[in-house]
Amino acid sequence: MVFITHDLSLLVEMSDSVAIMYAGEIVERAPSRRLYASPMHPYTRSLMQAFPPLTGPRRRLSGIAGQPPDLTSESPGCPFAPRCSQRVAGVCERVRPRLRQVEEGHWVACHLHE
Ligand code: SF4
Repeated sequence: MVFITHDLSLLVEMSDSVAIMYAGEIVERAPSRRLYASPMHPYTRSLMQAFPPLTGPRRRLSGIAGQPPDLTSESPGCPFAPRCSQRVAGVCERVRPRLRQVEEGHWVACHLHE
């Protein structure tokens, strides 16, 4: 079964494997528990900061600054670059990262993990 949501906490509770999409592309894919414990892509991390945890102490939530990209005009670089606080100047805006396996079963499309 494929379940689509923005609620990562719920998703991790009910799934075996998670694929995170941004601008129509998979940017991270991993077994659910591993992704929840050690997210690697900056977008995945930002999503996790935007939702309250199901258990544990309350914490302040944060949103993701900026707007989703205009999908009618494709840029050569990383689609998340304009909103990414970790972007590598001179690289992320020019070169689109490819989805790579960084550890067994964990795939990430980000220049920080090449
Ligand atoms: S490739 Fe660069 S801009 Fe894109 S998510 Fe990774 S660090 Fe951020």
